[in-house]
Amino acid sequence: MAQRKEPVEKTCDVSGCKEQAVRSVSIKKAKASGLSLEGDRGNVHLCREHYREFKKSTKEDRKLQRMGW
Ligand SMILES: [Zn+2]
Repeated sequence: MAQRKEPVEKTCDVSGCKEQAVRSVSIKKAKASGLSLEGDRGNVHLCREHYREFKKSTKEDRKLQRMGW
């Protein structure tokens, strides 16, 4: 049976990922962290796994920048 009212559930915006989104971040930051996303403005939604990747790589970025400069 088709439900007429679908729950407003956001899914992860990383291409190929169908997980439920838990966070939304700026797409620029998300792309800078190496995630595969479409578009280049606004926010993207990330699932728990990708948000963890995002956080990890932004942290590493900062460390690299500090070390490099
Ligand atoms: Zn995801």
